[in-house]
Amino acid sequence: MMNGVDCQYCTATIKKVRGCEEPRDAPAKIGKYETYYCPRTYMDGKISVWIEAFNQYKNGFFPSGTGWLEQSMKLLQTINLIESLIEEFSKKE
Ligand SMILES: [Zn+2]
Repeated sequence: MMNGVDCQYCTATIKKVRGCEEPRDAPAKIGKYETYYCPRTYMDGKISVWIEAFNQYKNGFFPSGTGWLEQSMKLLQTINLIESLIEEFSKKE
């Protein structure tokens, strides 16, 4: 669902590679973090909603009204947080 990462649609091979159901043989490195499990397994419903709101924002849509000042402070802070994490993870080591 989120950027094509939804464990229920993965084949058995992909689930093994991502660590959707069982830990990977070696950790996947995401920036400075390491995980043996698919990142999707860490996401609860609230996180999914925030990521969806971020994706909609990137496509030009806000949940409340059309202007920046009409949005909640929590949404604006979450957008800034997600953008800073994307920037951090996009840096070459
Ligand atoms: Zn998964």
